[in-house]
Amino acid sequence: MTKSRLTQTGATNMPRPIQATVHTEALRHNLARMRAAAPDAKVWGVVKANAYGHGIERAFEGLRAADGFALLDLDEAQRVRALGWRGPVLLLEGVFEARDLELCSRLNLWHAVHCDEQIDMLATHKTHRPHRVFLKMNSGMNRLGFPPERFRAAWTRLDALPQVEEISLMTHFSDADGSKGIARQLAAFNEFTRDLPGERSLSNSAAALRHGMEPAARADWIRPGIAVYGSSPDFPEHDAAHWGLLPTMTLATRIIGVQQLAPGDTVGYGSHFSAGAPLRIGVAACGYADGYPRHCATGTPVLVEGVRTRTIGRVSMDMIAVDLTPVPQAGFGSEVTLWGRAGNGAVLSIDEPARAGGTLGYELMCALAQRVPVVVAD
Ligand SMILES: *Cc1c(COP(=O)(O)O)cnc(C)c1O
Repeated sequence: MTKSRLTQTGATNMPRPIQATVHTEALRHNLARMRAAAPDAKVWGVVKANAYGHGIERAFEGLRAADGFALLDLDEAQRVRALGWRGPVLLLEGVFEARDLELCSRLNLWHAVHCDEQIDMLATHKTHRPHRVFLKMNSGMNRLGFPPERFRAAWTRLDALPQVEEISLMTHFSDADGSKGIARQLAAFNEFTRDLPGERSLSNSAAALRHGMEPAARADWIRPGIAVYGSSPDFPEHDAAHWGLLPTMTLATRIIGVQQLAPGDTVGYGSHFSAGAPLRIGVAACGYADGYPRHCATGTPVLVEGVRTRTIGRVSMDMIAVDLTPVPQAGFGSEVTLWGRAGNGAVLSIDEPARAGGTLGYELMCALAQRVPVVVAD
């Protein structure tokens, strides 16, 4: 990111130099990468949680090559339609109350059906257009869905409804990112759906990347979210670079103050860090009120002018200190990249600060604070 980009935003007053950037080309690249991971499968671009914090409207251009958009919120579904998207839109949790079905009819939304109550709502729904539904099996995650033994009965009930035009089948893996894997859930799904017609959708990012070459796992539709946003679903076993994924969000700021520490000097609230030797630090305009996790302790990786260094001391609401030792030329105004891509092209995956903060790239991107201005880049 160049200096000029950080200083130019739409706002007339910019009180702080912090800014997030959504990278359109990286979204495109990652989506293509997921397609390649599951050859011949159609791809739902998962845009729940406001496109994992990127903003549906901002991410749309980069994701428009998807075969459909999957999300949770009726409001988000309306926003996708308002962008002019006429293709498939899937409500991953289905409807929450009966009147939601009217919007499904009006906007032609496909919706998951995961419980008897949702079938009851459909059975009494007056629709002018029969619905396409994704019947969900609880194959072991124990969140949403019909248990395998009850799946066929649910299918039969749905199939008898005039309100339903087409039934697809879905499930969701609990351990696609780890050693437990997907085998048991996949076997349950296959066993209890064997002779049912309809398209199938099983795999999230982790399953698509790790098992997408298995036809039964990739099935007809994959549902990648996190990988499309450039974060590795199985970090630290594999990082984003291993999977060929590029960062789609950069959080960058500038150094607004510099301190020269003598041995024994401490930094930040609680004096959590104490210098063992002389140390030059920069104070960056980013804190937990911007969405940078307070749990990131001293040593969390960060880029200053594209050079990898570390944070020092506790994260405050609006500031964090960084070690300038590897970048002696840095000073007031220097670029600090909390995650994403620096101006010199260096990359710090969001997975690294996430891990240092005891969380995941998912949570960091979703938690980007409202007060951070966001721009869209190519
Ligand atoms: C969020 C979600 C996904 C996407 O998962 P990622 O791990 O982000 O790829 C897929 N399917 C369902 C049902 C989801 O809720």
